Amino acid sequence: MTHTEKALVVLSGGQDSTTCLYWALQRFGAGNVEAVTFDYGQRHRIELDCAREIAARAGVYQTVLPIDTFAAIGGNALTDDSIEPEEGVRPDHDNTLPNTFVPGRNLVFLTFAAALAYTRGIRHLVTGVAQTDYSGYPDCRENTLKSLEVAIRLGMESRLEIHAPLMYLSKAETVYLARDCGALEALALSHTCYNGEQPPCGHCASCLLRAKGFAEAGLADPLVERFNGQ
Ligand code: ZN
Repeated sequence: MTHTEKALVVLSGGQDSTTCLYWALQRFGAGNVEAVTFDYGQRHRIELDCAREIAARAGVYQTVLPIDTFAAIGGNALTDDSIEPEEGVRPDHDNTLPNTFVPGRNLVFLTFAAALAYTRGIRHLVTGVAQTDYSGYPDCRENTLKSLEVAIRLGMESRLEIHAPLMYLSKAETVYLARDCGALEALALSHTCYNGEQPPCGHCASCLLRAKGFAEAGLADPLVERFNGQ
């Protein structure tokens, strides 16, 4: 790959997309990476502040796109104030989806990201989704991404490539990747908690997964360190 190719990273302000931003900077080179963040009516507005700070720290141009449709649809804990996020991590044999699943979210995000990439002459999209170690969201699986990539290529007559560098990594391996591509310090600015708390609540599914990953990797979470140091 030449470094004249550009990449657009879907940056939510969370641990995974922050790691992907630094992965992209390493792979495509500073100056060839942009970020897109979606204001989709998420109840925790702090995510948007985190994404903005992280993009600024990394020195990448960020576009924020509004999508208020998911909040209008409601019915899930991330866009509907009347629904509390489920506690804890589900056992492996439980095939039902948690109430933090926002149906269609990644499909829409990636399609709009592809539209933005098209207009900016960018061929590579980077997303932090992963099908291992997570809540079983079907729009985070590789077959969904591959199908969407085909649909976008056909529908936009483009050569778009969707990259998901975390797809098969465990949470611990994601932490190692963050360390190896220089993302650890930026993770102190990231936001992952489903309850929108800072310092993180420590007991929602998202906090538990994050803590497990850092524990297994044998590294301290810079976000937790930041609050411990105060
Ligand atoms: Zn939490």
